[in-house]
Formats: sequence, structure tokens, C-alpha cells
Amino acid sequence: MKIRLGPGGIPMCCKGSSTSDGVRKTSEMGLDAMQVAFTHGIYMKLEEAKKLRIVAKEEDVELIVHAPYYINLASEKSEVITASKKRILDTLHRGEAMGATVAVVHAGFYGKDKEKALEMINNACQEISNAIERNGWNIKLGLETMGKQKSFGTLDEIVPISKSIKNVIPYLDVAHIYAGNAGKIDYKEIFDKLKTLKLKKYDSHFSGINFSVVKEGKGNEKNHITLAESKMDFVGFSKEILRRKKDTTLISESPILEQDALVMKGIFEKLGHKF
Ligand SMILES: [Zn+2]
Repeated sequence: MKIRLGPGGIPMCCKGSSTSDGVRKTSEMGLDAMQVAFTHGIYMKLEEAKKLRIVAKEEDVELIVHAPYYINLASEKSEVITASKKRILDTLHRGEAMGATVAVVHAGFYGKDKEKALEMINNACQEISNAIERNGWNIKLGLETMGKQKSFGTLDEIVPISKSIKNVIPYLDVAHIYAGNAGKIDYKEIFDKLKTLKLKKYDSHFSGINFSVVKEGKGNEKNHITLAESKMDFVGFSKEILRRKKDTTLISESPILEQDALVMKGIFEKLGHKF
């Protein structure tokens, strides 16, 4: 099994500001994955993405790409849905060009009618999957597990969509799951739920997280914090990953990005894993 670790954006200690500089720095630090964050906008042209592919290959850094936050596939406004699909497709297109394995998406909000929202998100995912197929892309659409009660994205919602629609996979965010459950997480249960999908590899964000409690077992994420500041059991998480013996790529979304990716690497090493 291959475990890859890296920062959720260009490393903070990186002197250069380009994404390629970030990939080189990631590799230099002994990390081998990096998230290209289009979270505040798709800042890269297709040509640059193609060049990035070469650098990532040379440095053996796996890329994943995060779609803009401003997406709602279950909006009441059709123009928002159209714009959301375009943002996702533009992210996928560049992701494919840079050789990214997955494009991570916050799919949307429940709004007034949860059932209808689920149906709309399902339909949009099918359309996006068809586009991936039509274009012959290898990149997957990763639906991120979310940490707010109003956001679509529990594992129980994402697994069936991933099961029925090709090119769609769950993208775990263990901090979000922990926050959404108001401070509870069962790593074994999470990976057990994924079993039915027979995935080639697992993907997850990790970080610590602050949350507010809505009621017993239900919470809303507030902000990401470092592993050291968090009460989450990252050793338990690592142990469960090692037990599953499947390739896994973990992206740090901690406020100290690459430093916590190295902390996580240290945890795996302590557990006897050889990188
Ligand atoms: Zn995210």
C-alpha cells in the first residue's frame, strides 16, 4: 500500500508563488501529494495546468484539485446551478490536464426541501459524470463529506451516489465528519461504509476543527485548527488506514498545512509504516 501525504495548497514555507514551485517544495520536504486549491477561484489556465503535470510527474507528487467554494448544485436559482456545473467542469478540465486524480467538490445545500436537493445533486453528478466519460478523462469527481447541518454531504448520502454513478467517489474530510457529529468519529465505521464501492484508493482531508453543538450528536464546523490543538484521535485514524491495506492519499487542511502533513507522516512512521 502506498500512503501519500501533502499540503492542501502551496506550502506556506515555499518562497516561490507558482503552483509548480509548490510541487517542488512539497517534494523537497519529503511529502508526495498536494492539493491545488481553486477554492477562491480557478486561477490557472489550461496551458499552465499541462506544464504542472510534467513537474508533478518529475517530482512524483500526486495532485488533487479543489473546486471553488461557490458552488450549489441544489440551488433554487437555475443560473446558480448552471454556473456551479461550469465551475466544476472547468476544475475537472484543468485537473485532468495537470494529471490530478480527483477534483474535490462541496456539492451544495439542502435548502427547504432535502429530498429535492438530493435529487438535484444526483442529477447534476450524473451530467458531470457523462461529461467526464464523453471527454475520456481519468479524473474523478470527489464529493466531500461536509461538517454543517445545512450542507449536503454525509457519508450515507455520498456512498449511494458514488455507487450508482460512474466517475464519482467519496472524498473524506474526517474533520468535517467529526464536527458534523459534534465531536464523534468512528474510523472503522467510515471505512466499512466505503467497502461496497471497491475503490482503488482512499482520499481524505485531515486537520483539527472547532465546532458548535446544535444538539446531541449534531454540530456545525467553525474553523480548522492544528492537529496539536485538536482532540481528534489521529493515531486511531492512521491505524485504521494501515489496517485497510489500500493506497491512501491524505491532504492536510490544517492552518499549518505542510507542517501537519509532516506530523501525520511521523504518526505513520511511529506505527511502523515505511514510506
Ligand atoms: Zn473542501
